[in-house]
Amino acid sequence: MGSHDGFTRLVFALPGNATSRVSTAAHSVTVRLSTTLKTEKGALNAAGVKFYNVSGKTVTLTLAGGVSAARTRVSVLPRSGTAAARLVIDVPTTAAAQASVRAASTSSRPAVSTTVTRPRVVLDAGHGGVDPGMVSQWLKEKDITLDVALRTRAELIKHGVDVVMVRTADTDLSADKRTDLDARSRLATTGKVSAYISIHVNAGGASAQGIETYYFGQPLAGSDRSRAVQENGGGSVGQELTRKAANSAQGLLGDIVAQAKLSFSRQLAQKVQSRLVQYTGAVNRGVQTDAFYVIRNPTTPAILTEIGFGSSPSEGPRLATAAYREKVAQGLARAILDFLNTQ
Ligand SMILES: [Zn+2]
Repeated sequence: MGSHDGFTRLVFALPGNATSRVSTAAHSVTVRLSTTLKTEKGALNAAGVKFYNVSGKTVTLTLAGGVSAARTRVSVLPRSGTAAARLVIDVPTTAAAQASVRAASTSSRPAVSTTVTRPRVVLDAGHGGVDPGMVSQWLKEKDITLDVALRTRAELIKHGVDVVMVRTADTDLSADKRTDLDARSRLATTGKVSAYISIHVNAGGASAQGIETYYFGQPLAGSDRSRAVQENGGGSVGQELTRKAANSAQGLLGDIVAQAKLSFSRQLAQKVQSRLVQYTGAVNRGVQTDAFYVIRNPTTPAILTEIGFGSSPSEGPRLATAAYREKVAQGLARAILDFLNTQ
């Protein structure tokens, strides 16, 4: 439980991923889940909330007088890495939050809200667990991507952004790469997500260096596609998933709605690319498109960024330092904040 931004936040750990249905009365909020919780109840010494009751699949909050139930925000966050799935309920407590409630409640909208007004982004630290990603004498990709994701999360939280982590430790989501990538990309469409950012480290010849950022689409003519195959799992699995993703990219070409949504991904990619280059001084390899399986869903702005070449004698050692990774994280966070404000 905590208070911030004019809201009291209650968090209930869930035994597994769940769906939720919210109903509100004048002074209470009821959430019905698809999973059963341990029964508990009690008075709460928290602004805006007087009492809570967890019984079976139902969580009920009794609100303080003057607090609008309709403005309460309910979300279920899926299990991610070592973090359990959880139910998050934000209850407005300040005059400002209440004022926006009144404005909203004068409309004819039903007094039920699952709206998450705080933007939420998913950070995907590439690889992990059984899959180290690229490995060089200076680093393992999975360690670098996790550290950058954690640093980026810390910065985003300071700005009031909800962050869902694909992983927060050295874990995979499945030893099977396809299942692993499916689980990652599913987070982009779980609840209301404003952006999905997949973080990776590149590999190439000794002279290759710099940052490049991708959104989903057909690869540029002449590109060898080896990066997509590598990030899609490598080997025969990587080739199969790349073929699948490329086919779906082909299918999107004639889909005007999908193309319009992809333009948000392109904007996000451009912001990420330019901020990363600005903050790190790295070589700018530009924004590109390719058939990365993990960002193939067009309904959420989604990008994959290669934050540098772990194989480079100059960039590899740099990526291995915390100070440089902090610059990467600051640039990434700045770009995400830019994107959230302008979309
Ligand atoms: Zn990777």
